[in-house]
Formats: sequence, C-alpha cells, structure tokens
Amino acid sequence: MKPSSTTATGLLVALPALLALTGVLLAGVPSLAEAVALVALVIVLTWAAWRFAGERTNRLQTVVNLLEALREGDYGVRASGTARGDDFGDIARHFNALAARLQDEQRGLHESLQLLSKTLAALDGAVFAFERDGRLRLVNPAGERLLARPAQELLGTDAAMLGLAALFDVRSGDIVPHAFAGQSGRWQVGHASLRSRSQEGRLLVMQPMERALRDEEAQAFRRLLRVLSHEITNSMAPIASLVETLQGVLPTTGSPLDGELHEDLRHGLDVIGQRSAALQRFIGQYARLARLPPPQPAVVDVVAFCERVAGLFNDPRIRIAPGAALQLHGDRDQLEQVLINLLRNAVEAGGDSEVVLGWRRADKHVLVEVSDRGPGLPPSGNLFVPFFTTKANGAGIGLALSRQIVEAQGGTLELHSREGGQGAVARISLPLAAPG
Ligand code: ADP
Repeated sequence: MKPSSTTATGLLVALPALLALTGVLLAGVPSLAEAVALVALVIVLTWAAWRFAGERTNRLQTVVNLLEALREGDYGVRASGTARGDDFGDIARHFNALAARLQDEQRGLHESLQLLSKTLAALDGAVFAFERDGRLRLVNPAGERLLARPAQELLGTDAAMLGLAALFDVRSGDIVPHAFAGQSGRWQVGHASLRSRSQEGRLLVMQPMERALRDEEAQAFRRLLRVLSHEITNSMAPIASLVETLQGVLPTTGSPLDGELHEDLRHGLDVIGQRSAALQRFIGQYARLARLPPPQPAVVDVVAFCERVAGLFNDPRIRIAPGAALQLHGDRDQLEQVLINLLRNAVEAGGDSEVVLGWRRADKHVLVEVSDRGPGLPPSGNLFVPFFTTKANGAGIGLALSRQIVEAQGGTLELHSREGGQGAVARISLPLAAPG
C-alpha cells in the first residue's frame, strides 16, 4: 500500500475520537453519564471506521495482486465479488472480462505457434530466420539436416559462420547449385526481411529442387529417346532386311560380275548389315531408359543379394566386406542391374586393385557401398547424364539408368571420391524393410 492511502486510512480511523474531543472542548466537561455514552460512541464509531478502512485496504490489495498476476502472464486468475453493487463489484467484472480475453488471445497464439512449428517441421525446404545482427534465431529440422548440426549448436551463430551469408546475394527465386555440409544439389533460394519484437530480421528459405529438376530432365530425355529409337528402328529394319535379301541374291560362286567388283559389293553389304545391326543394338540399350518398367518392391535380404551379384562376376578382385544381416524394401531384379553396373564401373576403374562391396544401416535406410582404388571420378558434373562417358567403348548409360531405378524405389544413388585415398565410392541408399 502506498503511504498516502495509509495516511487516509489513519485519519478515517482517528476521525470519531477527534470529533468527540472537539465537542468536549467546545461544550465543556460532560457529566459522568454523558462521558460514558461519548466514550462508548467513540469506540463503536472508531471500530466501524477501522473495519471499513481495513476492508477497503484488503480489497485494494487484492486488486493489486490480481493485476500483478496478469502482468506475469497468468491469465487464469479471476476476481471474486462480481455480484457486489459497489465500485469493487464493477472492478471485479471488468477485471474478469479482461483476463478472459487475454486468456483467449494467449490460447490462440499458442495454437498458431504450434501450427507454425508443425508446418515448419513438415517442410522439406530449410528455413532460417536471422536477427538484425546476423545471428540465427530459428531453424527448422530441414535446416538442421542441411547443415548436419542440431539446432542447439546452430542458434546464435552468425550467418557468415554458417556459410549462408552469400546466399542473400542470390536473387530470390533463383535456382543455384550448392553443397552444404549435410546435402548438396540444386536449390531455389528465397529470402525476405521480417520484423520480430520490432527488430528487423532476415529470413532465408532453401527449397530442394534437385529431385524435381532431375525428374523433369529424365522425362524430357525419355520423350526424346522414344522418338529417336522409333525413327531409327523404323529406318534400320528395312535396311537390314534389304541387305539380307541382297546378300542372298548375290551368288557366292560363278558371279557374272568382275571378281573385284563382286568382292567389293559383298564387303559393302556386310558392312551395312553389321553397322545397322550395331546401331539397332545401340539404340535398343537407350530405349531401356525410356521403358523402365515400374518397380515391384518386396523384402530383399541384403547379404544374399550382395553375395549373389558379386558371385555373377566370379572375379577375385571383388571382395565382400561382411556386414550385419539387413533387409531392404525394393525390386530385387532392378537393383541387381544397378549393382552390376556399379561393380562393373569399379572393376573397370580399378585395374588390378581390389573392389570392396559392403553394406550398413543408417537410420531407416540401408546403404550399399562399392568402393574402388581407381583414379577417382572425372571432374564433371555430368556423370549421371545419359550418354556421358569417358570410356572408349562406353555407352554412358549405366549410371543414368541406375539412378533412375534407385530413385523410383524411394532411394538415392551417389558417387563420391574415396575419403583418405585414391578411388571412388558408389553409395546406394534404400529404405529399410519394415519389420514383421
Ligand atoms: P559407362 O560405364 O558406359 O561410361 P556409366 O554411366 O556407367 O557409363 O559411367 C559414366 C562415367 O562415369 C564413366 O565413363 C566414368 O567416367 C565415370 N565413372 C563411373 N564410375 C566410376 C568409377 N568407379 N571411377 C571413376 N569414374 C567412374
């Protein structure tokens, strides 16, 4: 209670005695009976004034406590005595209406925050919010995965230290390739300024585009392949059959033609026949990319799968690094094709050196790895682009087809240089089979 209100209370309580004293002084000494009646009256009035002032003080103290509770954010408090007809009844009713409204707003805010945090968690785009001084204030789970560090370690760190500052120079909406600690690929960059607690901040959103772009590219490629293979096959089939007919018509002995001319003609037909057959085989290979059937996923025993594919090579250079018994979810026949391609590439790259085939579990995925000690990967971003090859007789189809197969089964295929040594590692990641 403030001193002024304490003084007012004191004066109110002392008022009956002061009035009695003033009366005595003005009217002279009272008789005994008058004096007794006056003292009794003063006692009763003082007691009543004291009760009245005390009750008021208590009520004011209660109002102060209630307001303090609101200030502390406890919007569940309610004042009693709303039925009273005096000022305190009014105050109680207004106070309760205010507390109920604040409680509703708090509940609404809480629900919005929960919705926001759930939405942020479900986004596959990484979201980073920075304070005015460039320190990270909020990051969603996709952002943690991108930087391969938990939020506790990231929050409060400077954008430049996180390697994100340069991304604010990229025009919002542009797609750029970028390698983060946790993931690499192509990303659509989005940024905006935001205001929080009346502070200017910045928001950065990195939307993964690699998969979508790759799907789009693969689809365009498949369309092109379909048209090309259709046209080439249509042209090659009559050429091959014509060559066969001409070869049959041309007599092997007793030709009316000059000996050398006859030989040239036969040789020419042979070459046309061979090349058209080769071209048909060649285009047939690419057509597989365009006609990849939908996968038929089932539970695949990883150990048996790896041993079987390695066994097909019957090559002492291929060594299996034994791993735990695991089961993955995928189309075994198509995955065999993938592993054959990767092992073949590794053996071809490695020369006489060893190729190691291993597998392990990583969270909800099975990783199958083929590592070699060859010269390592060529410096090109096109390894997975169809037709890309650095081999004299390569078709450049193996990796493109393999990635298409693996991604159609919910997995990923990546090629890296080997850490701590020369060579390359091909890593397939596929979903672990659900138990039971
Ligand atoms: P191809 O084997 O017909 O060339 P791929 O699509 O399988 O087609 O491979 C494309 C290219 O990727 C290869 O030509 C080679 O340059 C590179 N490559 C693939 N695997 C490896 C590896 N293990 N080591 C080095 N380079 C590799």
